[in-house]
Amino acid sequence: MADRPLHPETLALHAGWRADPTTGAVAPPIFQTTSYQFQSTDHAANLFALKELGNIYTRIGNPTTDILEQRLAALEGGAAALAVSSGQAASAFALQNLARAGDNIVSSTDLYGGTWNLFANTLPDLGIEVRFVDPADPEAFRRATDDRTRAYYAETLPNPKLRVFPIAEVAAIGRPLGIPLIMDNTAAPLLARPFDHGAAVVVYSTTKYLGGHGTSIGGAIIDGGNFEWDAIPARQPLLNTPDKSYHGAVWSQAAKPLGPIAYILRARVILLRDLGSALSPFNAFQTLQGVETLALRMPRHCENARKVADFLAARPEIAAVIHPARQSGTERERADRYLKGGYGGLVGFELKAGMEAGRRFIDALKLFYHVANIGDARSLAIHPASTTHSQLSAEDRLATGVSDGYVRLSVGIEHIDDILADLDQALSAVG
Ligand code: PLP
Repeated sequence: MADRPLHPETLALHAGWRADPTTGAVAPPIFQTTSYQFQSTDHAANLFALKELGNIYTRIGNPTTDILEQRLAALEGGAAALAVSSGQAASAFALQNLARAGDNIVSSTDLYGGTWNLFANTLPDLGIEVRFVDPADPEAFRRATDDRTRAYYAETLPNPKLRVFPIAEVAAIGRPLGIPLIMDNTAAPLLARPFDHGAAVVVYSTTKYLGGHGTSIGGAIIDGGNFEWDAIPARQPLLNTPDKSYHGAVWSQAAKPLGPIAYILRARVILLRDLGSALSPFNAFQTLQGVETLALRMPRHCENARKVADFLAARPEIAAVIHPARQSGTERERADRYLKGGYGGLVGFELKAGMEAGRRFIDALKLFYHVANIGDARSLAIHPASTTHSQLSAEDRLATGVSDGYVRLSVGIEHIDDILADLDQALSAVG
């Protein structure tokens, strides 16, 4: 589009789309179609043989979704992307694209609860072992690795602890071993750029900040195009041995004429083809609308969250405030190294008066919504001990960083005075 690299603010509005060549429409059209007419039998055969890339069937690709994929890849500095139906589908596909029964992955313990369930229960049921390690010590990833380890996995800014992950340290352990680092960057789009620090794949729940308006569930996987999948072929058999479901294609080689996209190509033509977690074109459109203003929203989320953290720290009802700006030592160094332009929109805090106070606080909120979500333009709050973490024993809950009085805020982009006034009156109600 331009002869010099464009800034994120510009890419968020322009990457992947200019105007419709037929109608001149400026906004990306919603291509609400299941299928696409082939120009000839030769054209159809070429598309199926991947000699040419193009539209076949919306389960594996759609022009509206393609704009979103191009835009996310451009924003992240990656080679190509795959949009899927939810963040959960994105993390499941990101790993199933490399690991099969008998293999293992090494994951950070600091994970979203849904990802934790996927890793602790569902992937093991499919024969894929997940080894959890504490990211405080990056070397723990190396110690948990064996010949069947196919990937490392972590979140950039995981809640509730909000400890930023050591991306470069763990990526550097994996690369010489042929093991890619997959980063869930859901809580830190634009703030963190995992590919710049050696990560090979980024996943998103686009449901959160990217969509930004709480309207559409979605997910995305972005291929950094920066990983040599065939450097140690035995490490990545799914990309380096003939795929009998696709004329014996060896993906690390078959993709070469198309660019450094072996990983994401396989995810599309095998996993999306067979498991079918496609994003609807309408949700792709909604997510594109959100992405257009992401660069304006993120700084405001960060600024408001920081002011909220400072406000809470001065309140007598509160035992601790959890926010990267209030960390020290290695945790703070990592936050400063990996997050640029702000520490994100999430804030946690612990009420001294415990479980009942947590419930009373939530019930007293008037502006904040009480929902199990983050990353909406509106301010959101939840009391994990009585909701998302209520099935865990008190001991397990504490290990995940959720005390009885813990409250999680996803601070929105409203006027800060209105946000603080709501928190003030709800804290007063706690007594
Ligand atoms: N990753 C993170 C960090 C999340 O917070 C979430 C949802 O809360 C997910 C993944 C799952 O995304 P989705 O709800 O879109 O499936």
